[in-house]
Amino acid sequence: MTARVLVVDDVEANVKLLQARLMAEYFEVLTASNGPDALQKCQAGLCDIVLLDVMMPGMDGYEVCHRIKSDPRTAHLPVVIITALDQPEDKLQGLEAGADDFLTKPTHDLSLITRVKSLSRLKMVTDELHMRISTGKQFGLDTTVADVKDPKDGREGKILVVDDQASSYEKVVKTLSREHSVSVITKPQEAVFRAADEEYDLVIISLDIEGFDALRMCSQLRSVDRTRSLPLLLIAGEGAEASLIRGIDIGVNDYIQRPVDPCELLARARTQVRRKRLNDRLRSSAQQTIEMAVKDPLTGLNNRRYFDSHMQTLFENAQSGKQPISLVVLDIDHFKLVNDTYGHQAGDDVLRVFSERICKNVRSKDLACRFGGEEFVVAMPDTDHDLAFVVADRMRREVAEHPFVVDDGAQQISVTVSAGVSCITGKDDSIADLIKRADTALYQAKNLGRNQVVSNAA
Ligand code: GH3
Ligand code: MG
Ligand code: MG
Repeated sequence: MTARVLVVDDVEANVKLLQARLMAEYFEVLTASNGPDALQKCQAGLCDIVLLDVMMPGMDGYEVCHRIKSDPRTAHLPVVIITALDQPEDKLQGLEAGADDFLTKPTHDLSLITRVKSLSRLKMVTDELHMRISTGKQFGLDTTVADVKDPKDGREGKILVVDDQASSYEKVVKTLSREHSVSVITKPQEAVFRAADEEYDLVIISLDIEGFDALRMCSQLRSVDRTRSLPLLLIAGEGAEASLIRGIDIGVNDYIQRPVDPCELLARARTQVRRKRLNDRLRSSAQQTIEMAVKDPLTGLNNRRYFDSHMQTLFENAQSGKQPISLVVLDIDHFKLVNDTYGHQAGDDVLRVFSERICKNVRSKDLACRFGGEEFVVAMPDTDHDLAFVVADRMRREVAEHPFVVDDGAQQISVTVSAGVSCITGKDDSIADLIKRADTALYQAKNLGRNQVVSNAA
């Protein structure tokens, strides 16, 4: 992972030092020596993360941070405030200015790299969401990813604290409870199951639990599907640097050192919760994109595109196993009349109910699709001609005998359907021919007076 980091400091030596450390980790580094220059680089979209010195002549770091966060063009940029003094007031003031994280001078290698990595992950997710939204808009799609910003801004998360020492977790829980719902687990062996069973936004694990390997637990959480992207934060005492480095390697997202500073804990928790939420939305939007590509929005059935790709597999399986496969094409009779008589909305309802009836009458291994308009297709693996005819006729009769209840029960509409059936004939047969024969049979059913099934044994 690489990101473009903007280092802002009025002291050249400080800039050089940070630049060298970041470049050693393969980050791209830009620099600015004052507030206005930094703002200009942010607005030009040149960086992914800003490391901001607080004490600068002219415009100080808080002011720069405040301006970055209040400009819609730059508000999504993560900002790390670097304070010279380890004063809680400075952190608080940074938080109020909208900073995402803090570092204290002299900056410590591990904390610098961990924080920059954690925030660049957040930025990547945000960028990806931005991109999805704008692509969605280009295609006229109303995706559920309406806004990139987390409306709760990293608050109101569900957090699990894994720690067996009351003296240690009580303070952590008290602090976090100001913004989140927090539960504690004192038997660390149960934590992996709990984390996998419930939907947490963050798990905070103490590195100091007696007789327990916290890093092993982190690696287990990373290897289980359900918790693979669950944010993990370690709490470490003095001298735990080696464990922390291993933890970060395993995939721990962040850490905090004892004694735990409440401000810092809240800020880090917020960043992780925010990223988790964005990630979740990204995943559900990806899922949604896939569904939109293969599903008919009106009926929820598979669409023609899905049919074309999946039918290829079914057809090849049938041929290689010398099993029959049948196709039924169904078309509602005089559907135009339904629209003309009851309105287009009622017509849509009929299509939806019709789809439900098709689904009720086929097996899960059958492939039911809306081909377009009021034409539907069902491919039936391992089904010969006669059986396909029986199934199709059962659907036809079910439709004819039970009027469609639409418009929330306000209307009953009697509908009939015609169907054509075809079945695979041998190794020279093709999907196109199979469809064509079913279509011809359907055409015959219409000509013979509708509300019937005709099979084309070829
Ligand atoms: P036939 O018995 O010969 O099949 O007659 P038909 O009226 O069903 O067939 P035709 O193909 O002439 O008309 C199909 C109608 O289906 C025309 C079109 O407006 C309507 N239609 C297609 N898609 C939709 C839809 O999504 N919703 C609604 N309400 N109507 C649709
Ligand atoms: Mg029709
Ligand atoms: Mg038609």
